[in-house]
Amino acid sequence: MLYVVNGRIVAENEIFDGFIGIENGIIAEMAPGFPAFMPEESIDAEGRLVVPGFIDIHCHGGGGRLFSQDPGVALRAHRTRGTLGILPTIGYNMTMPEFLLAVSGIASMEENEILGINCEGPFINQEYGADTRYASDIEQGIYEDIYSAGKGRIRIWTFSPELEGADEFKAFLASKEEIIPCAGHTGCKADKLGGIRLVCHLFDAMGPKSRECAAIHENGTAEAVLADGNLYAEIIADSNGVHVPRELLVIAYKIMGDRLILISDAVSTPEAGVEGDLNYNEAGELSGSLLSVGRAVANMKRHTGIGWSGAVRMGSLNPARLLGIDSKTGSIKPGKKADIVIMDEEANVYEVISGGRRITDEKG
Ligand SMILES: [Zn+2]
Repeated sequence: MLYVVNGRIVAENEIFDGFIGIENGIIAEMAPGFPAFMPEESIDAEGRLVVPGFIDIHCHGGGGRLFSQDPGVALRAHRTRGTLGILPTIGYNMTMPEFLLAVSGIASMEENEILGINCEGPFINQEYGADTRYASDIEQGIYEDIYSAGKGRIRIWTFSPELEGADEFKAFLASKEEIIPCAGHTGCKADKLGGIRLVCHLFDAMGPKSRECAAIHENGTAEAVLADGNLYAEIIADSNGVHVPRELLVIAYKIMGDRLILISDAVSTPEAGVEGDLNYNEAGELSGSLLSVGRAVANMKRHTGIGWSGAVRMGSLNPARLLGIDSKTGSIKPGKKADIVIMDEEANVYEVISGGRRITDEKG
């Protein structure tokens, strides 16, 4: 039995000073205080936070490389920062041959390395998002090619439901029960959200584009999502509240609660000594981030003042529930997979345990 002792254990609904026992890669026990006898193998958390491994459902890269370029480097960069479940995300900002190659490359990764693939496009509204020149109309031949390149491992597919052909595409996705239809880079309103389960980075790259009339608050995609009682939404919490200002983080959490999922939308991870977690493309447009989900959790907590359990759930249990894997992972609970991270309140990571195995020495 491997023990993690002297930690502030962030469980699903509470936080307490205690320990965790791990056996055969599974969380065997957790309790306040210390184990009754001194375990032969233990990790001292030194009073730091002990949280479940994070799950990132929207992540383009890490360690200076995109998943489409060098999946091993990107994967390690996020694992060493505490993200142990990941959906490498292929963006719309590439040509169709590149997109297909990227999807098939990710689809050939090991079963235990990734949870699947997130296709962010290419069927998005060109008016919403950075560098949308390769965005595509919805065409059956294209989505069938992408689907077969994905070898059944596409789990999220983001598109703009206002585009022509969206209803046929929705019907196609509905016939693939492993795929979660996601609305994003869109100006759609509530009438187009039928059949959608998830929304891509709430408030970012969505309508309304501008407030045309100062006298009224125009209704748009974000308002439709907030008013919907069932949708899940991704959200980006960066350190400065640039993607989503503090007030909107508070509003989203108050309304959506555990249907809110923190994502990195990372195109890389910060190098040591580099300030901030924002990324800009060559045109100077805000484009993805340099976040990890752990950092996003810490930012969300700092911006909104919510408790650790609620903030951590947004980076672990909520995405696990969306993906239907929450009975096996996503929180610190006896019987679940021992994916555990020891970190401080700024999300500096001290130890990562993946399936009961310490991986902190992996380079990333
Ligand atoms: Zn993205």
